[in-house]
Amino acid sequence: MKELEERINKDGRVIGKDVLKVDSFLNHQIDPVLMEKMGEEFYKHFKDAGVTKILTVESSGIAPAVMTGLQFNVPVVFARKHKSVTLQDDLFTSEVYSFTKKTSNHISISKKYLSSDDNVLIIDDFLANGQAVNGLNDIIKAADASLAGIGIVIEKSFQKGRQLIDKAGIPVYSLARIKAFENGQVVFEPENE
Ligand code: 5GP
Repeated sequence: MKELEERINKDGRVIGKDVLKVDSFLNHQIDPVLMEKMGEEFYKHFKDAGVTKILTVESSGIAPAVMTGLQFNVPVVFARKHKSVTLQDDLFTSEVYSFTKKTSNHISISKKYLSSDDNVLIIDDFLANGQAVNGLNDIIKAADASLAGIGIVIEKSFQKGRQLIDKAGIPVYSLARIKAFENGQVVFEPENE
């Protein structure tokens, strides 16, 4: 998505070897106009996949997920993060190691909001090593729901998440794919559509 790549070039900041900070439009301040366009892009790509529900993780996935849900006219559910969770019968839970915070969180979703009738599109802000997506997929499996695909705003293709998803044969569509960080600059993969 050209406009997203341009925005990353303009406002993104590379931190260390493998982190991109995009607080000015995605992770802290949110640009709703850009978010709306992202929702449209995800819709265009997955519109024939029979999606009944959008699933994400709080908090940064919520904005793009809501915009996508608006396009599909389906509900959006976000997994909540907890440091630990005492087992509760009414929750689907999974454990996710956070790439940016270097800690493990439990994520959970109420059993009320996911069932075997659902065909789920996962939306998240970043794909790094694939832990967040994996945790959501665990929950989808526990609910006996099906996974329609995965939509990612910014994929760092040089980390292992993308490969893992491809290997599992899950349809994935990323709006921006970063090939490398070179001298503090972002190098994108050629656009896939
Ligand atoms: P993964 O679970 O794929 O290893 O990492 C994805 C999650 O970590 C995303 O939900 C996102 O919150 C966070 N994340 C990973 N890499 C980055 C990054 O470069 N920048 C920011 N802002 N968040 C990231």
